[in-house]
Formats: sequence, C-alpha cells, structure tokens
Amino acid sequence: MTETITKVREVKLFINGKYVESSANQLFEVKNPATQEVIAHVHEATADDVDQAARAAREAFENGPWRTMPLSERCNKIRRMAEIIIERKEELARLEALDVGKPYTVALEREIPRAAHNLSFFADFMEQQGGEVYPMEDYINYTRYEPVGVAGLITPWNLPLMLTTWKLGPCLAAGNTAIIKPAEVTPLTVSLLGEIAKEAGIPDGVVNVVHGFGGGSTGEYMTTHPEIDLISFTGETSTGKAIMKNGADTLKKVSFELGGKAANIIFEDADLNKAIPVSIQAAFMNSGQVCLAGSRILVQRTILDKFLEQFKAAAAALVVGDPQNPTTNMGPVVSKEHYEKVTSYLDIAREENSTLIYGGKRPELPDYLNTGYYLEPTIYLQENPNARICQEEIFGPIVTIIPFDTEEEALSIANATDYGLNGIVWTENLTRAHRISHKVRAGTIWVNCWFVRDLRAPFGGFKKSGVGREGGHHSLEFFTEAKNICINLN
Ligand code: NDP
Repeated sequence: MTETITKVREVKLFINGKYVESSANQLFEVKNPATQEVIAHVHEATADDVDQAARAAREAFENGPWRTMPLSERCNKIRRMAEIIIERKEELARLEALDVGKPYTVALEREIPRAAHNLSFFADFMEQQGGEVYPMEDYINYTRYEPVGVAGLITPWNLPLMLTTWKLGPCLAAGNTAIIKPAEVTPLTVSLLGEIAKEAGIPDGVVNVVHGFGGGSTGEYMTTHPEIDLISFTGETSTGKAIMKNGADTLKKVSFELGGKAANIIFEDADLNKAIPVSIQAAFMNSGQVCLAGSRILVQRTILDKFLEQFKAAAAALVVGDPQNPTTNMGPVVSKEHYEKVTSYLDIAREENSTLIYGGKRPELPDYLNTGYYLEPTIYLQENPNARICQEEIFGPIVTIIPFDTEEEALSIANATDYGLNGIVWTENLTRAHRISHKVRAGTIWVNCWFVRDLRAPFGGFKKSGVGREGGHHSLEFFTEAKNICINLN
C-alpha cells in the first residue's frame, strides 16, 4: 500500500471557510475496515461548534452574496465544484475505498463521477427552471421559488460522497447554505467538500462540514438547532424517527431517505443471462450495504433449481479481498459494530431453519486482511417470507431466496414488508411487467435492470422507507419555498 493510503490523517471541522479544531479538543478514531488500522483522528463538533457553523451559515444566507448573485454565476461555481471532484477523483476514490472498504474501482468508475454529476446536474437543472403564472381578470399571480435558509445535510456511511452531493447539489443551486454531517465511521471524502467549495469560489459560510456522532452528539445538536431550517437525512428508519421527534420543536422541514428490503422477483420467463449478473450486483455490491439492495430474491419454483445453481456459481466467482486492489469485487463491511450486526444474522438464519446455499463464513484471505470485517457472499433459501432474514434490513452480503408459485403469491410476499424503497422485476412478459410494477408498493421499480438512475426522476420510499421525494424538481421543491405574488393590474 502507498504512503498516501496508510498515513494517519487529522480531520478537522470546516466552518466559515476555515478548518477548525473541536472546541473541546474531542477527537475520535476512524479505522480501515479491511485491516482495523487507524486511518484518521477526527475532531468531534460540540454543541458550541455546531452553533458556530449554524451562525456562519445563517450569516452567509442572510447577508452574503450567495442567494442573490446571478443564477448563472451561482451555478457556475457549483459546476466548478464538480470539476474539482473529477480532477481529484483518484484521491477521492482511494479515500472512499479506505474509509468504507468498497472496491477502489467501483468508487473511481461509479461513485465519484456520480458525486460530481449530482452537483453539475442540479446546477444545470436549476437554470432551466421557471415559475408559474396564474392570470385573473384584473390581477396577475406569479410564483417564485426562493431558498429556505440553512440546511442540515446528514448522511450515512455506505456511499458518503455520492449521497452527500445528492443533497448538496439542489441545496446550493436553490441558494441555501449548508451544514453537512457525514457518518462518523466514514468522514474522509466529505470532509473535503468545504475546501472544494472554497476553491470553486463559493463564499465562506455557505458550505460547512461538522463531524461527530448521532444521538446526544453532533447530529442531534443539528436537528434541534433553531437556526437550521431544514434537514435532509439519509439513513436508518429508526434514526429518521428520532430526527423527526427532535426537529419537531423548531418545526424543521424534513426529507428522509430510509431503509429498504427490496424484493427482486424472478419469473420463470426471465432471461437468466441478464437476471443473474444483475441480481448478483444487487445482492453484493458494496458488500450488500446499499439501501436499494435486492436482498429478498423471489424465484418462481419452476426455475428454482436452475437459478440456485447459476446464482451460487456467480457468487462464488466474486473476488473478495483488499478494496485497494483493482480486481476486487467485494471488500469488508464497514465497521466492527456493523460486522457484529451482520454476522448475528448467521445465527438467526440457522435458528429459523434457513438452508445455507453458499458462504456463511470468513473468506480465505492474505494474512494482512485477517483482522478485516469480511464475510463471504452468503445465500440462504427460506420458504417462510416472514422469517427475520426475509424481513429485516441486514445491510450486508447476505441474501435470501424465497420460492413462489404464482404471480399473486409473489406480489403478496413482495408487499409483506414495512419497507417500500424499491422493487426489481425480471420477466419477458410486457403486460406482466406493467401489472407487477403498478402493484408493488415501492418508490422505484426496475424492470429487467437495477440501479439505473435518471436524476430528474423522483427518488424516495413508500411506507417506512422515507418521507418525501428527492430528484429533479422534487429536490428543488424541498429546498425552496414557493411564493405567490399577486399584482393588481388596475
Ligand atoms: P444511521 O441512521 O445510523 O446514520 C445516518 C446518519 O445519521 C449518520 O451521519 C449518523 O451519525 C446520523 N445520526 C444517527 N443518529 C442521529 C440522531 N439521533 N440525530 C441526528 N443524526 C443522527 O444510518 P447508517 O449510517 O447506519 O446507514 C445505513 C442506513 O442508511 C440503512 O438503513 C440504509 O438503508 C440507509 N440508506 C438509505 C438510502 C436511501 O436512499 N433510502 C441510501 C443509503 C442508505 P453517526 O453515524 O455519526 O452516528
């Protein structure tokens, strides 16, 4: 490994255009999940630090040039941020692989470019927006979409830079100022967003980054702070509930992208040459730590044996190893705490009489990875769709195959969950594809594909998978206040 990867970094807060230390000199460690080596000492934002960030963001919003500058100038600066991310993409991908344990190539080829695109897309999109006009006999109404104020952007550890810029793009394009809090286990790439914004010419105080924990710490200070007007949050459903409660006293506007347990429904007429490799991706990409993962694979019984054989062979072909190695397909899971949660499902699966099809143990790895949080891609077969491994979000490389006989049965299993983020359907029958897509209660349905994203499209969850939608004009509606102006024409 190169020196840039192994050196231990000091990660500071970024407030009002400057790196600053925790006011209480509180620091916490971040470890490489592949080896458990300490890779960073991170300054934890106290309540005072969050207050400083909120005041800086408020001042930049009320009295700075950001929200009133010409739209094209604002959007050019956001596009410049995207360019800098691309210029630094190797470094950012290395850091993301180091911090999260995801394969470097996936970060380099997919996530970092998408992080840049999130910014440039919303800059371009904002410039295309107009307002509405409602003429009356003697009056004319027109609408304006004005920024809300100071936004709190709280993001999880699985796709740190990609999910943060997904919020930051529309937030800034609309003219708001931001306080960002990445997950405490993966702060490295997001910690650079403040300096990237500054280099792009974005005024001080517009992009602030704080670090720390959730409940009782930085995250909670943000969700209760009176100067923060809105919270855009991605993370666990239980955290969403806590944020909603904590934000109630200050009546914060909220948008939540929460957990998922997607059904990936494979009908007997599916083209397995396409369905198997994409289902492998949907199951094990990022070690299964993807909210959109197809973690419940519903397979029509007539093709069950064939599917099991091919799916198992494809899982066995995945290269599990060092995230920094370009040939690695799957790295470790993100942290000790998460590893313990994920591997606890191996016991749960056994207790529920699930049949282990593949995996279920630590893979054979070179010695230096022996302390990493690794688990083989793991596949269970379970006839009972109410079993815990079929219902709970494991968020790791464990998937369950559930057989079904009829379309009605597949639908009823797919919908028998508290979650509703997405669904996946494999069939060559067009009318069935539409019929199932309409009946699965989830925010996104992919037919014969997975994770294809058009950033104009609405993204969010039904049921306990979210509140509100982001994407295209949905994001802009969240990050703006609509104002109607009525003019007397007489
Ligand atoms: P968490 O909910 O644990 O954490 C997400 C963020 O919220 C972190 O920055 C965390 O801080 C912070 N946080 C935790 N508690 C509080 C609190 N009480 N107040 C304010 N902030 C708080 O999620 P994970 O990081 O574990 O991420 C995995 C989850 O994210 C999964 O459930 C997954 O499905 C979901 N997810 C959803 C997506 C979607 O688009 N629907 C996309 C990606 C992931 P800290 O980590 O420092 O404690």
